[in-house]
Amino acid sequence: MVLQRQRTPFENVNMQFDLSADRLGLDQNYRDLLKRPFRELVVSVTIKDRDGKLRSFTGYRIQHNNARGPCKGGIRYHPEVNLEEVRALASLMSWKCALMDLPFGGGKGGITINPAELNDTELQEVTRAFTRQISSIIGPHDDIPAPDVNTNARVMGWMVDEYQRLKGFNPACVTGKPIELGGSLGRNEATGRGVIFSARELMKAHGTSLKGKKIIVQGFGNVGSHAALFAHQQGAKIVGVSDAFSAFYDQDGLDMETLWDLQQQNRTIKNYPAEQSRIEGEELLFQPCDILIPAALGDVINRGNANGIKAKYIIEGANHPITPEADLSLTDRGIPVIPDILANAGGVYVSYLEWVQNQNHFYWKEDEVNEKLDDAITTAFKTVHDMMESENKDNPNQKFPCTYRRAAFMVAIKRVHSATVLRGI
Ligand code: NAD
Repeated sequence: MVLQRQRTPFENVNMQFDLSADRLGLDQNYRDLLKRPFRELVVSVTIKDRDGKLRSFTGYRIQHNNARGPCKGGIRYHPEVNLEEVRALASLMSWKCALMDLPFGGGKGGITINPAELNDTELQEVTRAFTRQISSIIGPHDDIPAPDVNTNARVMGWMVDEYQRLKGFNPACVTGKPIELGGSLGRNEATGRGVIFSARELMKAHGTSLKGKKIIVQGFGNVGSHAALFAHQQGAKIVGVSDAFSAFYDQDGLDMETLWDLQQQNRTIKNYPAEQSRIEGEELLFQPCDILIPAALGDVINRGNANGIKAKYIIEGANHPITPEADLSLTDRGIPVIPDILANAGGVYVSYLEWVQNQNHFYWKEDEVNEKLDDAITTAFKTVHDMMESENKDNPNQKFPCTYRRAAFMVAIKRVHSATVLRGI
């Protein structure tokens, strides 16, 4: 018996690309060019640990496409970071930035490391060593890092400092920085806020609103906790949440204030006091709800479990939480999915505002930032919705209907393709 190799995350993203490129009738030469990262740097990150021992970790910075501007994308610290995963995330950034019509291309970085095993001094040393190793290819007009899983404003502060030691003052070299170092008001909350703006627009498109909707959020980190908070503020009921250590579900609603306080104080919700609502982490995705927001890691909804999803709608807070097979199965079942490149684009959008503010040395009030973000997500949602509707009207006999993901990739690919052609490549 020949066992089929599982596709890598990068192959999965390219499959999504091809399904949309098919609809666009994109020439094969351009497909190959647009799928391939133009630069990949793999580095060794070495520090002296608390016992004076040398420890080395593998770090990556992948620049996928810069036809529309400097590369932009986060830095992830996680034991499962690997080349194919970072390629996938870098590619998604190209399509996300293009969909949001930002003057950026896509990049991503990461270190294969478990940050929980390091103390603060070691973590700072790792960040500084990694910044030195990739400093030749990053910069405000080349490639601008930002936070991702297990990195935050504090880590970005260390990156900025190390970069500026080497290259001189330029706060636009990194986004998601602490406010005191030139960060933007509203950046920390932006991805979760954008997720809920997308959810609001989806509800509107279906003639309803977020009020009273039952929501499950997988992953209660930066994206998930803010998405849950903003949904709660709009009158939705948070019925399920999880993090890497625990999961809770109660169809009558969880106590958002307690969850929020626990997360702020301990960076985990594992001590949530309502024991009767504790469930196994894997079970959370299959509980009944109106809207499911996967906001942790990739490939969590896959061929093996997609049939068990009971949500009526899915908003992708995380990057590539749904594999292509699962995506087709959800489409078959009529479950609308707002794809990552639209749903979680609030982070990169406010990173763009931070970059603009840094270069002008002029800073906006938080309300102004949030208003611009609302406008940007609403516009992108409408563009994708219109593309989806016109595709389904013009091509009613396709095997699968055009979905939000198909349409979002179509808009993005068209823009990057057009920039590439205009450059004369
Ligand atoms: P984070 O490190 O702040 O939070 C990750 C959360 O996921 C933590 O609560 C962690 O405990 C939880 N988690 C990990 N494994 C889990 C599991 N198996 N089951 C349930 N929960 C689990 O990271 P983040 O910045 O919130 O990023 C989350 C996702 O959103 C990632 O896919 C990231 O690429 C994506 N994203 C983040 C941003 C951003 O601005 N931070 C922007 C766009 C997309």
